[in-house]
Amino acid sequence: MIFKNILGAAIRKQGLGVQFSAIINRGVSYSLSAEQKEIQDVARKFVREEIIPVAGHYDKTGEFPWPVVKKAWELGLMNTHVPPEIGGLGLDVFTSCLIAEEIAYGCTGIMIPIVVSSVAQMPVVLGGNAEQKKNFLGRLTEQPLLAAFCCTEPIAGSDVSGIKTTAVKKGDEYILNGQKMWISNGSVANWYYVLARTDPNPKTPASKAFTGFLVNADTPGITPGRKEWNMGQRASDTRGVTFEDVRIPKENVLIGEGAGFKLTMATFDMSRPGLGAGACGLARRCLDESVKYSMDRKTFGVPIADHQAVQFMLADMAITVETTRAMYQKSAWEFDTNVNSSYYSSIAKCFGADMAMKAALDAVQIFGGNGYNSEYPVEKLMRDAKIFQIYEGTSQIQRLIIARRLLDKAKAGELN
Ligand SMILES: Cc1cc2nc3c(=O)[nH]c(=O)nc-3n(C[C@H](O)[C@H](O)[C@H](O)COP(=O)(O)OP(=O)(O)OC[C@H]3O[C@@H](n4cnc5c(N)ncnc54)[C@H](O)[C@@H]3O)c2cc1C
Repeated sequence: MIFKNILGAAIRKQGLGVQFSAIINRGVSYSLSAEQKEIQDVARKFVREEIIPVAGHYDKTGEFPWPVVKKAWELGLMNTHVPPEIGGLGLDVFTSCLIAEEIAYGCTGIMIPIVVSSVAQMPVVLGGNAEQKKNFLGRLTEQPLLAAFCCTEPIAGSDVSGIKTTAVKKGDEYILNGQKMWISNGSVANWYYVLARTDPNPKTPASKAFTGFLVNADTPGITPGRKEWNMGQRASDTRGVTFEDVRIPKENVLIGEGAGFKLTMATFDMSRPGLGAGACGLARRCLDESVKYSMDRKTFGVPIADHQAVQFMLADMAITVETTRAMYQKSAWEFDTNVNSSYYSSIAKCFGADMAMKAALDAVQIFGGNGYNSEYPVEKLMRDAKIFQIYEGTSQIQRLIIARRLLDKAKAGELN
């Protein structure tokens, strides 16, 4: 039951499983453990065989990549944070990020359904009681199902405290009304994590005014909108989701009424290293495609890789890959070791996103006219890269978080 998938079986063979969190690097070390390398190899092979060959098709058609998602599920590359007692691998954030980097290398549009389902699970991992974990996480390990994370609304994205969706308690139920926007997995999710306002008093601080709910997608009153046709990551299913008089049993409240805002922020601390890892995977793909192309393409009688101007762009991409990886791994390690990780999570997400965007721009430049054409791989990478600077908190919002932390430390006389 616990290790029913292929990756799980490999882990069990080595007697590891839940102890992954105990084998991450404790001191300063840049080596992966043998088990982490094995997980990375499994993911890399899966990407090479199952994602890269079909990524272009899903980008062009916008079809949802169910066959790929199901194979990832069978292999154990999904739901990695779910505790072993309910069928997951119980991997730490660090090791899950290694998988995210690999999948992003193949296609970040296909990465999103997998990663966002994990993001929706995180509030349950962090704040769910035993029954909620068994019910909502357990079903994702029993069948290849997905979850979605519903925070953003048409009126409020960066300003989470500005959301207008309400949940009003009536007897043993809450009645949910409102509209969410830009919800990844919006129409394919089996259940949603929904943040809603439960205290109508505008003077109540955000930390007490919102509640996190687990909502089955087949509950009457839920209507996903049309699939949004975005600039990139087109395999991902992004939609608005409307909630109209949706009745939620009080048992589906996470932690308690009023705890939703803090739970959502804690979720971002846990999820942002994964987006840094995704950005790293995308930048690595830019680098590999650019190196291959620049050694092949000739101008003025020599491969363009011989021109110093091109070499510098390749070197910048290599710097991006290495530093983004170092940062997402550091931020994941901070989360796994229970250090307050918002600061590092924001640095990993912001730096990864900004640098992946630059790497993709440079990749298009190296490809010249071909870079601007959809027959070549890098225009997709450029379209896919942009959203990293926007979702899960824009690069501006990450800088606000980083600066706030810096200034708090300065005021407390703790700068070193
Ligand atoms: C493809 C896609 C998938 C998504 N998936 C999900 C999902 O699964 N679940 C979910 O809940 N949300 C999701 N989102 C929403 C995403 O997280 C938001 O779009 C994002 O947080 C930005 O919010 P906004 O679009 O409302 O922009 P706004 O908040 O309106 O921001 C507009 C601009 O103003 C800047 N800005 C805003 N406030 C400040 C400030 N205080 N200081 C400086 N600059 C500021 C922003 O950085 C940005 O440049 C997704 C979005 C997209 C496009």
